[in-house]
Amino acid sequence: MNSNFDNPTCVKLNKLIQHAYNNSDYYKFEYDRFFSGCPSVKSKEDLLNIPFTDGKLIEGEKSSDLIAVPEEEICYIFFSGGTNGSPKTFPYNFPDWEEVIRYRAMCYEFAGVTSEDIVQIMVPYGIWSVGQSAQDAFERLNATVIPTGCWKDAVFEAFEIMRKLKTTVLMTTPSIALITGQELIENGIDISENHIDKIITTGENVPESVRLKIEEMWGAKLISMFGSSEAVLGIECMMHDGFHVLDNNIILEIIDECGHPVKEGGIGELVITPLNRKAMPLIRYKMGDMVQLISNCECGCGYPKFRFICRKNNNFVLSTGVNMSEYQVQRSLDSLSFNVYRYQVILSDDLAGNETISFDIETDADSMKRYDEVMQALSSISIDFCDTISEGWIDIKLNFKKIGALSCVDHTSKQKKKFMDLRKYPK
Ligand SMILES: [Zn+2]
Repeated sequence: MNSNFDNPTCVKLNKLIQHAYNNSDYYKFEYDRFFSGCPSVKSKEDLLNIPFTDGKLIEGEKSSDLIAVPEEEICYIFFSGGTNGSPKTFPYNFPDWEEVIRYRAMCYEFAGVTSEDIVQIMVPYGIWSVGQSAQDAFERLNATVIPTGCWKDAVFEAFEIMRKLKTTVLMTTPSIALITGQELIENGIDISENHIDKIITTGENVPESVRLKIEEMWGAKLISMFGSSEAVLGIECMMHDGFHVLDNNIILEIIDECGHPVKEGGIGELVITPLNRKAMPLIRYKMGDMVQLISNCECGCGYPKFRFICRKNNNFVLSTGVNMSEYQVQRSLDSLSFNVYRYQVILSDDLAGNETISFDIETDADSMKRYDEVMQALSSISIDFCDTISEGWIDIKLNFKKIGALSCVDHTSKQKKKFMDLRKYPK
């Protein structure tokens, strides 16, 4: 848990709980059911009794039950992908939005962005909040903003703007930085002709191979930020191995499968409570991200820090009962002697119920040995998984592709997910 559960945090939390109870149908119903009234939190231990919330509650029209301000107070509504086709809804009033901008600007300042910078924002604008909130936050730091957006056919124009206007900061997703860089290079453009010294990424995890490739392509340092439509949580320091949470207005918890706090250094699901968010309070909101709390960082900044491990639901349970998770796949691909930049895993079955796992793997390795090496690495996922392969219970297909061939596997795309279960007969 965030180490600073001090008195001011406790006061803010109780105000938020009271606001939610008094103004939202969902919290009123739930707290009456659990506590016969509005609960009061006096310590970390009391907080553990407050029920969790999660993404399913804010999908589609269900989100209106959590809204805790009059409709006319809402100034923005953004959306992001949900679990079953219904997008999650994120309404903000002006103070909420101001809070998002304040904290985002604080993160950019921590990354070293100043009023001297020329920032090019290359993310999809529109219903995804990141473009608008990044723009407002950079403006808050008096940086010059070029809201380029992300249009597939305009990569060359975007780079021309970058070169001519001497852009110093590129704000984008890792996939866009990678694919754009690759496309420019393939078209014979000298990508080193740029003035960028920082690439601030958001929206996706950055495996080490992707970080190094992007830094090499662009000749700039990559700084990853941990943010989602739910909240901006933190940003990397110079150690680049986790995210610092820079202020006390978000309570962080890391819980095990039973909902209990994990011990220091343990891996668990991230739970957040943004204390200043009023239009749609998210109290003990399960993010669906598995993270690890890091007690000390060598950078010495003193802010709490966590490391992203994987998305909680990026896993398959095969018909043999064997589990295969994103964490295990990433770890085995990291052990290869060549780089894998992005990948997608698709599980399917035929009419007889025979299952096949297809791995689509982006790499620039030419080696003929790569098939055997990947198969060997996947066998090391677990003893059970190795048995499942060697006994022929499941077919494995490996498809090697060039960088950019997986059109989009980041969370801005509804259609393409890193782990896709296309089985007609899910077990
Ligand atoms: Zn640090």
